[in-house]
Parts: sequence; structure tokens; C-alpha cells
Amino acid sequence: MAAAASRASAFFDRLGVTAAEGNVPIELRYDPTVKDAAYKAKLGIVDGKPQLSDEHVDVGKDPFTGKPFSDAPDVLYHELSHHVVSHIVPGLGMSAGSKIVDESLADTFAAAIDGNWTMGEGLVGGSGLRSMQDPSSQLMLDGSNRVVVPTPSKVGDVTEATMQKGAYFNMGPLNHAAYLIGTSQGSDTMARIYLQAVRKHLGPESSMTDLVVGTIRGAGELYGSGSTQQASVRDAWKAVGMRAAAVDATH
Ligand SMILES: [Zn+2]
Repeated sequence: MAAAASRASAFFDRLGVTAAEGNVPIELRYDPTVKDAAYKAKLGIVDGKPQLSDEHVDVGKDPFTGKPFSDAPDVLYHELSHHVVSHIVPGLGMSAGSKIVDESLADTFAAAIDGNWTMGEGLVGGSGLRSMQDPSSQLMLDGSNRVVVPTPSKVGDVTEATMQKGAYFNMGPLNHAAYLIGTSQGSDTMARIYLQAVRKHLGPESSMTDLVVGTIRGAGELYGSGSTQQASVRDAWKAVGMRAAAVDATH
């Protein structure tokens, strides 16, 4: 687990993520009674400012494979990315609309650290628990079994009914947009654009639309308005079903 933590930290160092932004060591706590992996923290207000305390990452054991989640370094990268995003935007992920953004951001940074677009392949092999390249299905827990579940690929497939199934079920279109930007511009550039969006354009209540706007603006700020990087962000959001006119009208 220490190797995964130092790899994630080196990645965030390279992007200029500071200690105040959560790029500091956090306890990784293996607990075989836990059935998942999760970044845990208490969010309070101190002197009028949001303050995180009691932070750690629970690393459990997969009920299906019997393997610890630390067998999949990208799962740890996902949780360590939550740590960073939570420090930059405390409270993101506490509402249903912002949780989908928070979860997709964790996958997005994890993929850039891991160097591939599948999550959890160290646990179950193959294309892992889910793929940002092909978000049309996921390998989800059903009791102690893991079953292939069809999941939304386009933003239009995300409905009130699918949102009842939680953020993980619905994050495919967001994940796929990051994949498209990363394969077009390189995962480092992709991660820098998302980091800029998190730093400058997202708040605790941010939704999918805010992420679209934030990444378009972030790419413009980093690489210039009308740059190929920004065009790639626009193309990605259109490809996952965001309305073209709305994407093009965002500056
Ligand atoms: Zn997560």
C-alpha cells in the first residue's frame, strides 16, 4: 500500500498539488471486515471554514474474490484522489448530484496515475470492475457475487430512476469523457484540465453540468481559448451526449 501511496503522491506533486490541497500522507487502514474501500473523513466548520478531521482510507476485502482491495492499486489511487479533491472542494459528493462528479473525478485521477482506463483489474483481472473506455457495463457486487450490470453510457441515459442506483452506476458518461480527452491529449494534460476545473470552477453542490463548464473553462485557462486541448474537451462532452449547442456556447 505504501508503494501506491507514494506513486499517487508523486503524480500529484508533478501537477503542483500542495499539502493544503490534500497531497499529504493519509492512513491506509486494512480491515478485512469491510466489504469495499473508502476515503473517510468528518467535515466540520472551524472559524467559519470547512475543516476535515479523522481522515483515513478504509481498505477492505472483496467478498467475491476474497482479495484485499489493495491488490488493485487503482482502487487506492481512487481513494487517494478523493482525499485531494475533498481538500480542494470540501463537501463535494455529499449530495446525489455532486456525488456522481466526485466519484468520476476519483476514477479520472486514478486512471491518470495508473496509466490505463480500467479500474480494479488487479482484483478481478480482465477489464476490471469498470472501464472508462467502455462504460456500458460494470462488474458489481450482488451479495457475495460479482455480476455484469448494464450501465448508462450517455448522459441522456442517466435518469431519476438510474440515479436511485447510486453514483457508481451512473458515472460512465463522465468517465468516458475523461477517457476521450486523455486518449486525445494524453492523460497528464487531461488530469491538469480536471485539476483546474476542481480548483477554480467546482463547489460542494457541483453537478455534471458544472463539470462540463469547468473543464471547458479550465482547458481555456491553461491552454488558451480555442486551443486544441479545449476543442478536445468540447468534443468529448458532445460525444457522451451533452447538447452540442450548449457545449459550444460555454466559454
Ligand atoms: Zn469513490
